[in-house]
Amino acid sequence: MIVMKFGGTSVGIPENFERAARLVVGRLRRDPVVVVSALAGVTNLLVDFCREPARRRGLAEEIAGRHARLVRATGLAGADLELPLSAWDEEAALHLDTAGPLHGAARDRVLSWGERLAAALFAAKLRTLGIPARAVDAGEAGLVTDERFGAAHPLPEAAARLRDSLARRPPVPVVTGFIGRTPDGRATTLGRGGSDFSAAIVGAALGAEEIQVWTDTSGLLSADPRIVPEARPVPRLSFAEASELATFGARVLHPKTLLPAMERGIPVRVANTARPADAGSLVTAEAPPDAAAWKVKSIACKKGISAVTIASTRMLLAHGFLARVFEVFGRHHIVVDLVTTSEVTISVTVDDDAMLGRAIADLEGIGRVEVRRDLAVVAVVGEGAPQRIGLAGHLFTLLGGVGIGIEMISQGASRVNLSFVVREEDADRAVRLLHRGLGLDLEVVEAAEPRRE
Ligand code: ADP
Ligand code: ASP
Ligand code: MG
Repeated sequence: MIVMKFGGTSVGIPENFERAARLVVGRLRRDPVVVVSALAGVTNLLVDFCREPARRRGLAEEIAGRHARLVRATGLAGADLELPLSAWDEEAALHLDTAGPLHGAARDRVLSWGERLAAALFAAKLRTLGIPARAVDAGEAGLVTDERFGAAHPLPEAAARLRDSLARRPPVPVVTGFIGRTPDGRATTLGRGGSDFSAAIVGAALGAEEIQVWTDTSGLLSADPRIVPEARPVPRLSFAEASELATFGARVLHPKTLLPAMERGIPVRVANTARPADAGSLVTAEAPPDAAAWKVKSIACKKGISAVTIASTRMLLAHGFLARVFEVFGRHHIVVDLVTTSEVTISVTVDDDAMLGRAIADLEGIGRVEVRRDLAVVAVVGEGAPQRIGLAGHLFTLLGGVGIGIEMISQGASRVNLSFVVREEDADRAVRLLHRGLGLDLEVVEAAEPRRE
């Protein structure tokens, strides 16, 4: 069997919604399990619904209207929407008189509606094409998670439960991405962009032969196309390469997506719903060695980063200094990206989020703390990049040539990623310069594995 995940633009735009349904029909032989995201923009509307009490009534109507328009534009029967939409109306009505923003479990329950409505419509569309299909709430189907609302993680028992409840096929299951539920039945969400992760969780649970991520680009590209319009698809990547790219800002895959696939050795394919004949990208355990034509694969960039430096003259002698520092970040659920140390200092980069202030207060008990904000991490990714003689020199010469300063460098810890920190305002320019300077805008000769469908 295969997993076919369709993102927001694939289900949110009428032509793509039709195309996506036909793509599933064309792959029935491969026993597809479908995973869908909310219609593009709907999760943002739901986030606003939670945040802004005064706008709730209007937003609830706008959300209903988006789905009603899709139903009309794609020739679905109004009846297909009636039941799920009245359930959403009931949910929305519960919060119209609630003052203040919704948090935690209540917020996740509201956010879950984007995927639930999308799954209902997509299953209905498949049925109009003559395919037996059923919408499945991932939480109901066994995707149990911990209780970290907004960033939940699946519990170990989720795999067996999903396997059991999705075993009966056909009908083709159309599973909600992005959401799960706690063991006591409260809806959770896996973090923004989390439908990719859902697809991988389902794929790993069912032992899929392939996890297909259908989106609005023809694969994982050599850079973010919004920064570098001439970015090209990368035909083959290793799990490690794709994982680093996702972690450092390539939004096309949620950072946790590759873990379940990696554990089970399941290939992940990224493809374009609007241009299904394009080769796309194939991510597997090992990208084929191609030493002669070695090239960086892609450059990612993550903004909104802060660098925290903790200095302690006692560090050299003190056992457990690093452990204490990391314990503070861990306790506040702050993910550390890059780390550099000297004899008396440690510098780390972290996402600048609401928790950082509290972590800094705690770090001040360990040493002198300095914070630099408005930074970006640029990650240059390709198997062996950090060990490539002369590559770092080349990159920094290019950047130095246009006056872009490097705030911090991390090289060597990873096999595949050479990353460094620049000021946020320099980040796009740095990515564009390196993309051209490293020849990533030139034509790729290597092709992805031919598709078997
Ligand atoms: P979906 O709704 O299908 O999940 P997303 O918007 O989450 O789609 O992800 C696709 C978007 O990711 C692309 O349109 C592009 O703007 C952005 N992106 C950033 N970096 C990359 C990259 N290296 N390759 C492809 N897309 C990228
Ligand atoms: N709909 C969710 C979001 O917008 C999940 C996803 O798109 O993957 O974050
Ligand atoms: Mg996405």
